Amino acid sequence: MLKIVVATSNDHKVQEIKEILKNFNVEIEKSPKIVEEEEDGKTFLENSVKKAYYYGNVLNMPVVADDSGLIIDYLGGFPGVMSARFMKEKSYEEKMREILRKLNGIKDRSARFVCVASYYDPINEILISTEGVIEGRIANEIRGNGGFGYDPIFIPEGYNKTFGELGEEIKREISHRSRAFRKLFSLILKLKD
Ligand code: IMP
Repeated sequence: MLKIVVATSNDHKVQEIKEILKNFNVEIEKSPKIVEEEEDGKTFLENSVKKAYYYGNVLNMPVVADDSGLIIDYLGGFPGVMSARFMKEKSYEEKMREILRKLNGIKDRSARFVCVASYYDPINEILISTEGVIEGRIANEIRGNGGFGYDPIFIPEGYNKTFGELGEEIKREISHRSRAFRKLFSLILKLKD
């Protein structure tokens, strides 16, 4: 079975990726602890590839990495690649309240979560990146306490509930991360055939 390390120290992310890929014939492992590089790229692709290269080269084995975030059209794409770093010292509750304040009275609430996943095999010098997107809109208030990050203010297209209310199973079916990783692993497994 194919063994791949996830370039992250985030347990939640490793668990989510394991669940997403449970129907694929791969074994997902959390990376051993290494000093992480700063995430300072201007795009999800740049950050995702940088992370994959860095971990792959340090560990000298195939790795997958991702970068993701929330894009709000009315705010010119904010917080985008800054999703994790925006108001860094504050809780997500406070970050979400700040976003709702910026959108107060605004009708255009269209938004999307984007994830770029990358696979890097330093031995065969192979790099593959895929993108997953889930369109939706920003709710008028914080709703639900499932998921993480901005889930309680994001309503995916076709639903009237936020990711915070919908629960993990639905999120896993349709999320940006699931879409990016499923595409990525279909390609990786084809390569191994
Ligand atoms: P990273 O991909 O680990 O760099 O984190 C990106 C940031 O985007 C997270 O810390 C969250 O703030 C936000 N984000 C990415 N994916 C999700 C999601 O599925 N739900 C809620 N917030 C998310």
